Amino acid sequence: MLMESPPVGFDALNLIDPICRAVQSEKYTHPTPIQSQAIPHLLQGRDLLGCAQTGTGKTAAFALPVLHLLAEKQPASGAKGPRALVLTPTRELALQISDSFRTYGRHLNLKQTLVFGGVSPKPQINALRRGVDILVATPGRLLDLYQQRCLRLDNIEVLVLDEADRMLDMGFLPDIKKIYAMTPNNRQ
Ligand code: AMP
Repeated sequence: MLMESPPVGFDALNLIDPICRAVQSEKYTHPTPIQSQAIPHLLQGRDLLGCAQTGTGKTAAFALPVLHLLAEKQPASGAKGPRALVLTPTRELALQISDSFRTYGRHLNLKQTLVFGGVSPKPQINALRRGVDILVATPGRLLDLYQQRCLRLDNIEVLVLDEADRMLDMGFLPDIKKIYAMTPNNRQ
């Protein structure tokens, strides 16, 4: 559990300029508590468990550092497949997270897509084939696509479990364990 700390400006977080500009366009003046507490640790490559209520800015708390880390580091040469994977329990959340990555990453050259169940997988498979840096996914559809060899997870640098408590309540633990094991041991 993270402790309360005094408010700091976005400048103090040392996020790269394209991300700062996107945040300014959103008219965010200060990071929210979960953002100011989580982002410095994530930028240092640490693992982090964050707890915050809905509506407190937790999407940006992981999306901003993920964008920063991917933009700062060149992918391994010849590497294929997404570099960041965000698992989330529902299609609605996947859509919201994907929107946030698009908004905060608008000045960056990183590709993102999303996969979720209940719709035809074909457009999702095509998007994966075109290449993607950030993948937002619900666990069941991700596993289906993985088992059909439509994607690889051996280049994942960052794994985010969004609303992990809800995923556990919904019975996703076995799927999450499988996905966890498919990603490299040294991922954040
Ligand atoms: P979330 O908790 O991630 O669903 O975010 C809730 C809302 O807060 C979203 O509409 C965000 O656009 C907004 N938001 C996120 N970070 C900030 C911030 N630092 N300042 C103002 N609004 C923010």
